[in-house]
Amino acid sequence: MRVLVLNCGSSSVKFAVIDTDTQKAISSGLVENIGANSYIKAKGPKNGFEKDLDAATHADAIFAVQQYLKEQDLIESIEAVGHRVVHGGKFVKSEPITSEVIDYIKSITLFAPLHEPAHAIGMEEAKKYFPTLPQVAVFDTAFHQTMPVKAFLYAIPYEIYLNQSVRRYGFHGTSHRFVSGEAIRLLGQKPEDTYLITAHLGNGCSAAAISQGKCVDTTMGFTPLEGLVMGTRSGSIDPAILFFLNKTLGYDIDRLDQLLNKESGLLGLSGLSNDMRTVTQAAAEGHERAKIALEVFCYRLAREIGGLAMALPRLDALVFTGGIGENSAVVRERVLNNLTILGFQLDAKKNAQNGKESSGLISKDGTPKAIIIPTNEELLIAMDTEAFV
Ligand code: AMP
Repeated sequence: MRVLVLNCGSSSVKFAVIDTDTQKAISSGLVENIGANSYIKAKGPKNGFEKDLDAATHADAIFAVQQYLKEQDLIESIEAVGHRVVHGGKFVKSEPITSEVIDYIKSITLFAPLHEPAHAIGMEEAKKYFPTLPQVAVFDTAFHQTMPVKAFLYAIPYEIYLNQSVRRYGFHGTSHRFVSGEAIRLLGQKPEDTYLITAHLGNGCSAAAISQGKCVDTTMGFTPLEGLVMGTRSGSIDPAILFFLNKTLGYDIDRLDQLLNKESGLLGLSGLSNDMRTVTQAAAEGHERAKIALEVFCYRLAREIGGLAMALPRLDALVFTGGIGENSAVVRERVLNNLTILGFQLDAKKNAQNGKESSGLISKDGTPKAIIIPTNEELLIAMDTEAFV
């Protein structure tokens, strides 16, 4: 089956046409900078290109995507549309899209203010261009809905959970689900007898404890700000810092939001960049703050993995994925070296090859397994969509 996968972000629309039989993308691309200086970059069976666009809205961007798919003679072959949705609120699994689902997504805009409206527009626009095709929403939060109460509740008055739905939701669920499924296959174990920790390390970073194929805890919470140190996000900090900065520097809510989401993490610590490549390179050249940024990133990641291990009866494998997890031998080495308490021992040669030998295994034989597994969220969205059709 050919599935169009749409990922409507705050100012971008990513797309891919996935053939679920071959599990390959026939075409993919993105419209970036919607609203100002937008452009489309795409590749398909006939040709690929990058050109400026005048896309003021997400609707304009989706028009441009379907134009491109028409030019590539692909539009008629698409049999279903799958949408990536950041926040699924109450949804525990992927859902066929109905007007009720779209209304619900709009109703939880406050949970992810930049993303949910874009997702709703994406669904409504796709319905215009593909009125007869089934459409499915795949939520980043859904995989984490199996977390027990002890893992998802904050210790604040219970009424705030009941009335405002403030709880830990977790994100990157599609990636954690995909790589944990792949890991179970690679290990050759039964899902019901497998215990994993998955670390999705990209621009955003999160880790999850997976027991018998189900998420039992994860590092992100009510929003994707909680947990690990990220490119520009702080991860968890003492919330009293916010009161302190308000009183001492007069920072209001918007300024604090900007500080923690856009100016912190690797960028804030290093003063150089949110990109792990730049930070690692600078650290190797002796840049003091880059060294600190790398050390804090890896230590905090190891500490969180240690905490997640507590949620499992045993650990069969630690999985690295995402741009950093798949490519940064330095980060993986430091994390495993911080985790000797769990018995991990790195195979330096395999790690340096980015796990391309032995199915991505980077740990020494006879020691707890650490594996690199490239994530493929688009494929999982396409497979979920096919499953509904
Ligand atoms: P993602 O969000 O999964 O696309 O990951 C993006 C991040 O991966 C970038 O911001 C980089 O920090 C990181 N990354 C990509 N390639 C490398 C590499 N070769 N070494 C270290 N980090 C990398």
